[in-house]
Amino acid sequence: MARYTGAVCRLCRREGMKLYLKGDRCYTDKCAIARRNYAPGQHGQGRKKTSNYGLQLREKQKVRRIYGILEKQFRLYFVKAEKMKGVTGENLLSLLEKRLDNVVYRMGFGESRAESRQLVRHGHFTVNGKKVDIPSFQVSLNDLIAVKANSKSTEKFKELAEAAEAKNPPQWLSVNAEMMEARVISLPTREDIDMPIEEHLIVELYSK
Ligand code: SF4
Repeated sequence: MARYTGAVCRLCRREGMKLYLKGDRCYTDKCAIARRNYAPGQHGQGRKKTSNYGLQLREKQKVRRIYGILEKQFRLYFVKAEKMKGVTGENLLSLLEKRLDNVVYRMGFGESRAESRQLVRHGHFTVNGKKVDIPSFQVSLNDLIAVKANSKSTEKFKELAEAAEAKNPPQWLSVNAEMMEARVISLPTREDIDMPIEEHLIVELYSK
């Protein structure tokens, strides 16, 4: 399945909530959820009863869209989460949080996960001193994620660092925006994920 290239605000409207896919615009009254909070399409405003399956499917789609993951890869994360010790749903969210593109976003570098992913893809970041341009790379405890030395002096990254200073990173990351780096000081837990996600619905969906 190809990556979704349509209007991202439609995805929020489909899920009936802000998924924060567009950066600053999401916090303004231009947000499509603020203006048209109903599903897109001809029947978007019709009243619908949602089945149990429908709820589970929507929850899975919502999380996929938040993190920008394709179905096949998302399923692989679930399989991995199932094999890990602990609660499968929480393991799944932790795996998604530990993706390098998400870590860069959480550091405050990028208005959206899509922008952060692009920065990673273009080779602007290192992990423990080595260039990593794979957005799905999983960070580990004590890893140091940093902007590559010759990217640091660019106007773009100076602006990104300034913007990052004003953002609130999660507790599991120790961010030094001025130095353009962050260290993983603990692994992300369920409490660190601030979006309203009912991960048990995803586990139920995939356990059928
Ligand atoms: Fe979603 Fe942001 Fe678009 Fe609002 S502006 S609908 S939160 S992507």
